[in-house]
Amino acid sequence: MNAPTFADPDFDPARVRERTAAVVAALPGVEWITDNRVERLSQDFYWFSPVLKRQLEGLRADAVVRPRTEDEVRAVVGACARERLPITVRGSGTGNYGQCMPLHGGVILDLSAYNRLLWTRPGVARAQAGIRMIEMDRQMQAAAAEPGSTLGAWELRCVPSTFRSATLGGLYGGGFGGVGSINFGPLASTGNVHGVRAMTIEPEPQAVELRAPQALLLHHVYGTNGLVLELEVGTAPAHPWLEAIVCFEAYEAALEFGSALAGAPGIVKKSVTLLAAPIPDLLMQASPPLAGAMKSGTHAVFVLVAEFSEHGLQQMAADFGGTVTLRKTAEEVRRSNRTLVEYTWNHTTLHALKVDKGLTYIQSGFDPARHVQQAKELRRKLGDEVLVHLEFIRTKEGAMNCSGLQLIRYTTDARLNEIMQIHRDHGVFIANPHVYIVEDGKQGQVNPDVVATKMRFDPLGLLNPGKLRGWGQREQIMADAAAGKVRLATLPRF
Ligand SMILES: Cc1cc2nc3c(=O)[nH]c(=O)nc-3n(C[C@H](O)[C@H](O)[C@H](O)COP(=O)(O)OP(=O)(O)OC[C@H]3O[C@@H](n4cnc5c(N)ncnc54)[C@H](O)[C@@H]3O)c2cc1C
Repeated sequence: MNAPTFADPDFDPARVRERTAAVVAALPGVEWITDNRVERLSQDFYWFSPVLKRQLEGLRADAVVRPRTEDEVRAVVGACARERLPITVRGSGTGNYGQCMPLHGGVILDLSAYNRLLWTRPGVARAQAGIRMIEMDRQMQAAAAEPGSTLGAWELRCVPSTFRSATLGGLYGGGFGGVGSINFGPLASTGNVHGVRAMTIEPEPQAVELRAPQALLLHHVYGTNGLVLELEVGTAPAHPWLEAIVCFEAYEAALEFGSALAGAPGIVKKSVTLLAAPIPDLLMQASPPLAGAMKSGTHAVFVLVAEFSEHGLQQMAADFGGTVTLRKTAEEVRRSNRTLVEYTWNHTTLHALKVDKGLTYIQSGFDPARHVQQAKELRRKLGDEVLVHLEFIRTKEGAMNCSGLQLIRYTTDARLNEIMQIHRDHGVFIANPHVYIVEDGKQGQVNPDVVATKMRFDPLGLLNPGKLRGWGQREQIMADAAAGKVRLATLPRF
């Protein structure tokens, strides 16, 4: 099919194609990909959304580059800046909203080979942005296991269910949080990100260290306002995690159990996921290893608790009338190389889509003061059209809450929008996953600080162009700042 057109006079497709070829030829020492792999490397999981599938299908970069060192990154960025070429940063491409799909061709800067763990200390570690999260955890634990080490075992505080393939830079650039957010909130919670080293997109690129809170100015803006080279993040004690499924006949009992377990202060845990009927049946159909792990027609709660907290888990399951239908020790999980994590968060959507292509999903944040009540009311109101999937997490401020990745039986865009509105009408925040513009998703509105940061780090507007609406308002934002109408975050001098 023909690629859709996102016309922009700054990025004439023929000129971009021709100048990209010139940059490829000028830097033969760097790994370039220009064959048919470019198409796959120009995509993410945008197709979870029927709306984005229509809008973004067929988008393609002109070349992909895979630098291995900071010098190589600098050489590529400098050359692209001189030629005014769009640059779209990519980790592993597991984002959901066409985040790393280039609207205007140009170069995909794939950081997956820029992937060293730089150091690890108790409670904090630093790595290059392209490190896969599973690899970072592995290396931190290997460091702890070295003879004579007094480091102790540490792991990332929150990882997406895509931890096996996704990069730390990708989580920062496009993600939210995940398994572990029940303890530490989303990645954006104060204390989770200590610092980032970012590169400016200029003919002579500069690398600049931003410490928290400025370190978060580049977070979850789809790589539109800075290229992150390194991240320094908080880590958590790595316990042996027991994985279990607890099944319930009644939705309300499963919901109340999930909420109580999430809040139980004496039980050390890493995740609690509620999958209301018929999701357990969809998962069992989609994935043979899960067949028989739950009773058909029941509501399931998937949990990861520290092995030493199992007694508390069993006690609470019995108190709420649940049946433990699956239990695996950390060693059993390790040996099988299969984890329940890969059925939670958006992996639930992935598996469900294998069975029923008519499904899509929404993302939502409940009100911590009444999340259980809201989840009951919405199920009553929306019935079978919305399949309830809730992840219990802490908010950025620390309150226990739940975040939804509800599956929707898609009929029309209008009905999809109506369902999102019904959630909003019940006081539930929607982070619309059917849009590709930063401000139309979780951010919700133009953030002057994000735009001002882009002016410093990407003054030519080359990073993932077309995704940040606020970029078109930069002159007004600067005029408002000069007139004292908005106060912008202070960035270090560079
Ligand atoms: C099945 C499935 C399950 C998922 N589960 C979760 C989940 O539990 N929690 C969650 O938060 N997300 C989840 N996601 C979304 C996604 O997997 C995560 O956000 C993941 O961390 C993205 O990492 P990545 O390396 O694949 O990033 P990519 O998709 O490659 O990039 C994501 C965005 O970040 C930008 N970016 C990447 N690297 C950099 C960098 N170094 N500097 C600046 N910008 C950069 C890219 O331009 C892009 O806009 C899920 C997605 C799928 C398909």
